[in-house]
Amino acid sequence: MSIKKIYLDYASTTPIAGEVKKDIKSVLDNDLFGNSSSLDHDYGSSVSEFIESSRTDVAELINADGDEIIWTSGATEANNLALIGFTEFKMKDRPLKIVSSFIEHKSVIEPLMELKQKGHRVEFITPNHDGYLDPDIISRTLDNGVDLLSCMHINNEVGSTNDIALIGALCRDKGTVFHVDAAQSIGKLLLDVRKNNIDLMSLSAHKVYGPKGVGALFVNHETVGRLKPLIFGGGQERGMRPGTLATHQIAGIASAFRLAKSSMQQDYLHLSKCREIFLESIKDLEGLKINGDSNNTYPGIISLCFPDLNADSLIFAMDDLAVSKGSACATDSDEPSHVLKSMGLSQEEINGTIRVSFGRETSYEDIETASSSLRAASEHLRLISGGTA
Ligand code: PMP
Repeated sequence: MSIKKIYLDYASTTPIAGEVKKDIKSVLDNDLFGNSSSLDHDYGSSVSEFIESSRTDVAELINADGDEIIWTSGATEANNLALIGFTEFKMKDRPLKIVSSFIEHKSVIEPLMELKQKGHRVEFITPNHDGYLDPDIISRTLDNGVDLLSCMHINNEVGSTNDIALIGALCRDKGTVFHVDAAQSIGKLLLDVRKNNIDLMSLSAHKVYGPKGVGALFVNHETVGRLKPLIFGGGQERGMRPGTLATHQIAGIASAFRLAKSSMQQDYLHLSKCREIFLESIKDLEGLKINGDSNNTYPGIISLCFPDLNADSLIFAMDDLAVSKGSACATDSDEPSHVLKSMGLSQEEINGTIRVSFGRETSYEDIETASSSLRAASEHLRLISGGTA
């Protein structure tokens, strides 16, 4: 990388916090190399103790019990395990009815398409124009008898935030198992699995200043209990996710979640201020629209739309900023964002959308630079296209 760009892509991933690095290093430096399943000696049992206390740290952030946390490689695996593992464990003599939405992450949509192929009845709800699910539509859908409902908390492309408490109450009332993809919201918004009637919840470390390659699935022991594993092998994670556990990665997620617990409020205030300053300084930009509903949005993610400009050209022109068009998990695909499409945006609006996402280390100076850069780039593109960009 030649010039150091200002990083405004925190929704794609975050840098590892200093304290988290220290905690990971301490595992690597302190001979915690034993296999947590080798309980016949101290090398293994000390690691096992460490892993169980890390499990409790993760559980405490969401008001779960330690034995409700299954370690995974991230939220992608957690989503797959939740949806496929639940369906295949529950399925007895009939296909299951599963409801989700078109705005979900691919790691929810793709396993559901797989389940549909296998004969399950899968239905996707269309979100409203602001990118969240209408509880009235969910309520009506659940009336028809639904086994499992899966929805995200914060959307990764536009920041729209579903009313998890309300949806959870509807699911509990109708006897539907409720899965939440909390990859973008864990450690950023309060998420109490008991108060919100959540049965399964997918978590990731790297969106909240932890390492990549580690996450967890919350499995409510009262309402779900067991899942069919995706892979087969040893009896780790009560047979639901076999394989030797990665102690240093688990140290990383536990540390990141402890840190998030203590800094959540301060982070939220900081991001709200960043958002306010940024939106104020760009509000007069020609042709600019903000995708989604500003009142019902996580402040760290802003989806900016210039329907008469091209997002690739805009990103190229802002050579001092690291921003993206949307989901990092879809950059291999030439297809337009399925999230923006499901919100009813036109092709021009989708082509002209970029995502800016702030984090703990974003400074007000960065925001100023970002807004000047966006202004200069959008004006330049308009100029070179002779006003018909
Ligand atoms: N769900 C959402 C909403 C996400 O934003 C992401 C990451 N982009 C994932 C799931 C997948 O998470 P992970 O990278 O931990 O596999």
